[in-house]
Amino acid sequence: MSLPIVKKIDIHAHATPCRALVPVNAATPHVTPEELLAFYDQLGIEKGVLLPLCSPEYHYYPVTSVDMKQLADKHPDRFVWFCNVDPRAARNNPKTDLSEVLNFYKSIGARGMGELTAQLPIDDPLMDNLFYHCGECDMPVTIHIATMKDPYGYYGIRDDLGLPRLEKMLKKHPKLTILGHSQAFWAEMGADADDENRKDFPQGKITEGRIPKLMREYPNLWCDLSANSGMNALTRDPEYAARFIEEFSDRILYGCDICSPTNVHQFEMNDWLEKMHADNMISEENYYKFVRGNALRLLKLEDR
Ligand SMILES: [Zn+2]
Repeated sequence: MSLPIVKKIDIHAHATPCRALVPVNAATPHVTPEELLAFYDQLGIEKGVLLPLCSPEYHYYPVTSVDMKQLADKHPDRFVWFCNVDPRAARNNPKTDLSEVLNFYKSIGARGMGELTAQLPIDDPLMDNLFYHCGECDMPVTIHIATMKDPYGYYGIRDDLGLPRLEKMLKKHPKLTILGHSQAFWAEMGADADDENRKDFPQGKITEGRIPKLMREYPNLWCDLSANSGMNALTRDPEYAARFIEEFSDRILYGCDICSPTNVHQFEMNDWLEKMHADNMISEENYYKFVRGNALRLLKLEDR
């Protein structure tokens, strides 16, 4: 039995305009908008949310909010965009009025903020300030979490095992919607997360970890299930995944996080969803919410 035809929305997209002008790794070149759209046609994706990457921890060069707006303007039926503001921007000051820049980006079409990758503790005063202003401006934030124990070699906002700093911010900023993402976020799906496997993709059956507990307690936490990390959190234990999808069906978001034309995980995720549907482990209603409906609601997009 094949899946109902629902045009998907990719909550987590990257694209590098003018790849010829940026230094790239020849083995895994960054994906261009045209390559991304070719993937979308194969995967049944109507549109994606372009996320800039502005912090230097990610790469040599930034992909800016302006780049993403220009791409979305060029392909208005296929892309919307988030802005990205580094929490250290404009004087490295926890009192900077970031609402000014966030409201500006919002006024020209940004539908959220992220992917947030600065290597700062999640409860650093600079991060606290950014979260406060995102909440005030009604801008959902996509976060990439890294560990506290590894100061070098990673990108992402930093938290300890168990995500206590994330919890502190979820509690302090109830108006803020946070979209959780990355290995260190999704490793906490199970109770077996530890300082080593949270940098990676823990395997095996799941005994509930911190993510389902945080989801239950904080309605402002949503799930970005893109990339190998989000996919692994579901596919490692399909029976648990079915219960998770059912319980949190209003706050789960399908995504790809395609970074390079060499990526294949997005096809594995499609196959897995087909199988879950064929095995009656995901209802049509929840499938629709996961791959489309929740994103429409979050992004304030009209269904067509
Ligand atoms: Zn990403």
